[in-house]
Amino acid sequence: MPELVFFSGTMDCGKSTLALQIEHNRSARGLKGMIFTRDDRAGEGKLSSRLGLVTDAIEAADGFDFYAHLVDHLSRGGSADYVIVDEAQFLAPAQIDQLARVVDDLGLGVFAFGITTDFRSKLFPGSQRLVELADRVEVLQVEALCWCGARATHNARTVGGVMVVEGAQVVVGDVNHAADEVGYEVLCRRHHRKRMTSASSHAAALSPDVLPVTSG
Ligand SMILES: [Zn+2]
Repeated sequence: MPELVFFSGTMDCGKSTLALQIEHNRSARGLKGMIFTRDDRAGEGKLSSRLGLVTDAIEAADGFDFYAHLVDHLSRGGSADYVIVDEAQFLAPAQIDQLARVVDDLGLGVFAFGITTDFRSKLFPGSQRLVELADRVEVLQVEALCWCGARATHNARTVGGVMVVEGAQVVVGDVNHAADEVGYEVLCRRHHRKRMTSASSHAAALSPDVLPVTSG
């Protein structure tokens, strides 16, 4: 039975690598996948992994209709055995509903990959809808690690290495970024709560006298 499967995790936990591996394994068996992504770090129409792999993909922008696209593709004689969607957290809830319909009405399995929560530890709308609709939710087993060595479960947004908690839900950035740019870092919950990034932990270790001191 085809399923809607949501592979979820933090940034940097190997989602795109797994998406590319699933694509490889299935195409090696003669199956044809339709690959979609949204705002991949490698640019429009690309699905890329931090390990350096990249493949062409269809960019699913605002207003893109997955169901209509697949019906159109199939009705023109195109083939598709399964669907891969990366960066699914950026999709609108209505687009996730379309993916469920692709499974139910077209009989295609859909593998969606996405970050569960944003930098404020709130669910992305696309991820929330996936949790609501998916036949299965798989938490990725390759664990990203916090700077302290604990399992990283939260995404922090940083500016100049300092964690920020205000701002738009989607700001382009990556875990590899210049020092003064908006970037992201995965943290354990404890250090997300304390807003302690690797940069601030280094600063605290190097200069203990920056700790707040109350006089009086
Ligand atoms: Zn930590």
